[in-house]
Amino acid sequence: MLDVVVQCDFITGHAVVQFEEAFAAFLGCECVVGVSNGLDALRLTLLALGIIPGDEVIVPVNTFIATACAVTSIGARPIFVDCREDTHLLDLDRIASAVTSRTRAVIPVHLTGHCVDMPALLELAEDHGFVVVEDAAQAHGAQIAGRAAGTWAKAGCFSFYPAKNLGACGDAGAIATNDRELASKMRCLRDYGQKAKYDHVMPGLNARLDTVQAAVLNVKLPHLSAWNQARKTLAAGYRSGLQGAGDLRLQRPAPASTHVYHLFVAETESRDRLRDHLAKQGITTGVHYPKPLHLQPAFEYLGYRRGSFPVSERLARRIISLPLCPELRADEQQRIIGAIHNFFSTF
Ligand SMILES: *Cc1c(COP(=O)(O)O)cnc(C)c1O
Repeated sequence: MLDVVVQCDFITGHAVVQFEEAFAAFLGCECVVGVSNGLDALRLTLLALGIIPGDEVIVPVNTFIATACAVTSIGARPIFVDCREDTHLLDLDRIASAVTSRTRAVIPVHLTGHCVDMPALLELAEDHGFVVVEDAAQAHGAQIAGRAAGTWAKAGCFSFYPAKNLGACGDAGAIATNDRELASKMRCLRDYGQKAKYDHVMPGLNARLDTVQAAVLNVKLPHLSAWNQARKTLAAGYRSGLQGAGDLRLQRPAPASTHVYHLFVAETESRDRLRDHLAKQGITTGVHYPKPLHLQPAFEYLGYRRGSFPVSERLARRIISLPLCPELRADEQQRIIGAIHNFFSTF
């Protein structure tokens, strides 16, 4: 990290190239293009693929808002699709009815750390003629059949926001692709459309991966597999420890995918009371996310209403993300599990 400063190697410096190569090797793909954050990874990918204002892009309605903002930021229209009740992932059975003559792309989100059924989605893409861009911002290292999330489709987008499975000390992101031509277009787009200094071949952005953040990521990447393993072990601890806890229901892992547990999600009718109960004992929980995107004021203009996406709406009232990070100790987890059992036996 200090090298970056001492050498004043701040803009797309050596550490950026080093990280791109290391992350490509980790994922098992041809190219990685480092960018400024996860939203820019998605936005730049859509731009590079030639998505233009008026085009429609299908996104799950239950995701972090960035997935949809990437679409609106280039003037295209997000078309929401509901999720599955068991895995909470984009429901592929609902895609065909959302496709129109303007559909250009679908962005599956590997939400909470497990993967949308990519082989099935790519088959749909072939039938309907849309391109697929993976939002893998919550799934660094998750796999289907040994192939990493983010490397199945035309491109896969990652965020290294500090709280992700691989986090920087600030904002950072990356795009994975096996298409070298697309990668070089993305490199150009992220740097003001420059092919060489002051030779601008397309109108571009400033969406470069910061070199200091790349240096941080180079230190952290070698630990990612062990951290993911720690998350899986903790998830297994919750699965066995929470059996028989009231009406608590656990998210079902997608059958074909490994799960890197960015989040550990459970469901209960008493979600808010359970959160209060745990908070009183110093146990902080989350809700990812409390409002499906169609109910956010930002997307009112799209014309959806309450009731448009019943599965996501019901989940939003019921889901709770339990504490899970690689540093969580087994005894701390036992205390959390005990507090949850205690809640359901007393109320
Ligand atoms: C975090 C996240 C993003 C956006 O990443 P930023 O780096 O915060 O821009 C996009 N999609 C999903 C699903 C995310 O969780």
